[in-house]
Amino acid sequence: MTAAARPFDVIVVGLGAMGSAAAAHLAARGQRVLGLEQYQPAHDQGSSHGHSRVIRLAYFEHPSYVPLLRRAYALWGDLERETGTRLLTVTGGLMVGRPDSEVVRGTLESARLHDLPHETLDAGALQRRFPTFTPAPDLVGVFEPHAGVLRPEACVQAHLAVAASHGADLRFGERVTGWTVLAGGDGVEVQTQQETHAAGRLVLAPGAWAPDLFALPQLPLEVERQVLFWLDPVGGTAPFTPDRFPVYVWDHGAGVQVYGFPAQDGLPDGVKVAFFRTGRGTRCTPQTIDREVHASEVTMMREAIADVIPSLAGGELRAATTCMYTLTPDHHFVIGPHPRHPQVILASPCSGHGFKFASVVGEILADLATAGTTAHPIALFDPLRFAGTSAR
Ligand SMILES: Cc1cc2nc3c(=O)[nH]c(=O)nc-3n(C[C@H](O)[C@H](O)[C@H](O)COP(=O)(O)OP(=O)(O)OC[C@H]3O[C@@H](n4cnc5c(N)ncnc54)[C@H](O)[C@@H]3O)c2cc1C
Repeated sequence: MTAAARPFDVIVVGLGAMGSAAAAHLAARGQRVLGLEQYQPAHDQGSSHGHSRVIRLAYFEHPSYVPLLRRAYALWGDLERETGTRLLTVTGGLMVGRPDSEVVRGTLESARLHDLPHETLDAGALQRRFPTFTPAPDLVGVFEPHAGVLRPEACVQAHLAVAASHGADLRFGERVTGWTVLAGGDGVEVQTQQETHAAGRLVLAPGAWAPDLFALPQLPLEVERQVLFWLDPVGGTAPFTPDRFPVYVWDHGAGVQVYGFPAQDGLPDGVKVAFFRTGRGTRCTPQTIDREVHASEVTMMREAIADVIPSLAGGELRAATTCMYTLTPDHHFVIGPHPRHPQVILASPCSGHGFKFASVVGEILADLATAGTTAHPIALFDPLRFAGTSAR
């Protein structure tokens, strides 16, 4: 089939955080887009549900994320204006741990390298400023003013709305079962439970389903079960409103990190808290994940915050749900062309910290699917970095 005869320029598989953003950027550039999603818009079976996601600029994971974050913030703002929806609330962010912890050290390194506004607070100053926290005397906090909360379901819906407004054909309840690159590399075919679709390029953004759909055995992706908790603080939520209580990541050492949010308007009663890293995650697949939250897990969460936010630790459990991380061994993202098929773009920006980047990832995926390259710095995300050079 010639390019002109094909009904679509690009097929996007998965319309979660990354796929919805890719579809929006591609359609806005005039590409004829087909988006395929096995569930309904902004569903709760993948990685992008639970009402809140942290966004922060002084990035402890690696300073090279900061330029991407600057662009991500700008694009979230554009999306808010274009759709008339509120997606981001800036609350400030507090990164707490021992001075040599990953969270504190890495935040300070990014802040210094990129000249980002921040304040370092010793335990006494931290508690005077944010009395709800009770840090041990040997801990420090780094406060950064730009951090805040994104509303993930609204972000996905907003990207879908932009994609649709530019003519993208978005189909829900249609599961992709496989894909093939046509002979001579002239386009792709995507098989679904309903039919087969053809296009010039393919963007795969399947979240926790990536290990099956990427067809790239050299990429060691693992899916991890996570639990989100909402607790009703003893004494009420007044000390937890966004003007008094920031988003935070608390490094307990030994690979254990806890994070949380202020109370959110109009959302399930209680204040959300979770493990960012547990030090020993539960591996699963989307088919095998245990969706039930067990009493022992609630106890473990309470114990982890008993010394740091006692009023939350003692509160009544209001809700809990599961979610999936798709992890790489170095916890950096996977974004780039499939090594054997340059017309297929792979997107797994997760390892538990990808949501905040979805807006800029959409732009990157649109660059890669149209021009084959991007001006954004994505060298850290090479799909083949775990395979050595021989597999190329
Ligand atoms: C508990 C938890 C907390 C997190 N907290 C943060 C945070 O605070 N800040 C942050 O930046 N990030 C955070 N993250 C990470 C972030 O949410 C993820 O990186 C991001 O949601 C991944 O988006 P995605 O588009 O890759 O996956 P998803 O949004 O899950 O989208 C993938 C989509 O592909 C669809 N799909 C898969 N296979 C097929 C198929 N065969 N056919 C059709 N459709 C298919 C799925 O149904 C799904 O809709 C968190 C993640 C979790 C789970």
